[in-house]
Amino acid sequence: NSFDSLKLLPEILSSLNKKGYKKPTPIQAQSIPHLLTGGDILGIAQTGTGKTAAFSLPILNNLGSNKIKTKPRHMRTLILTPTRELASQINENIEEYGKGLGIKSTVIFGGVKPRPQILQLKKGMDVIVATPGRFLDLMSNDQIQFGQLETFVLDEADRMLDMGFIRDVNKIIARLPKKRQTLLFSATMPQDIVNLSKKLLVKPKKVEV
Ligand code: AMP
Repeated sequence: NSFDSLKLLPEILSSLNKKGYKKPTPIQAQSIPHLLTGGDILGIAQTGTGKTAAFSLPILNNLGSNKIKTKPRHMRTLILTPTRELASQINENIEEYGKGLGIKSTVIFGGVKPRPQILQLKKGMDVIVATPGRFLDLMSNDQIQFGQLETFVLDEADRMLDMGFIRDVNKIIARLPKKRQTLLFSATMPQDIVNLSKKLLVKPKKVEV
């Protein structure tokens, strides 16, 4: 039960070492091997369980072992999360865990000027971490293309619903390519989330912590 046995890239193992992580948390041990092979995950987990690394590490590993150039306005990974704070935190974690891999990531949220975000998007990104409202605005203005999308993460799905984001999320989901890897995380499983997970996930591994 160590990160070494998970066959992660040396750059990632070195970042984990620097952060002082000794071994995977339960959600990481259960999710990482499955996600490395491209499988879908339904994760029933709260923050504080190590959920962010559980999805970030295999995503970074897959991006880092198959580097391709992203076209302007394209992304390989989209992570949707309900709040700016969460989006910024996730992006910071991704930058730390992925140091040395040359991964381009950026964060997109409302309440700030869109121009700098549009300039970032024009570079093409490996990872975009976004809140639904601003992402949808930019998408509707043709600033975002989905042709290179490989992995979609819906984080804190139940909070997303509670905050009234379901319409925005559904519009974004409608643009995702059919062939993709999908991860859905939620602390609770009300019927709406069960329905959403049936629509989004293909043969998901259910991970409950
Ligand atoms: P999260 O649930 O993703 O918000 O993570 C909660 C906290 O646990 C964060 O401060 C992480 O940096 C930390 N963390 C995540 N995975 C590990 C690990 N394997 N060992 C030690 N700390 C961890």
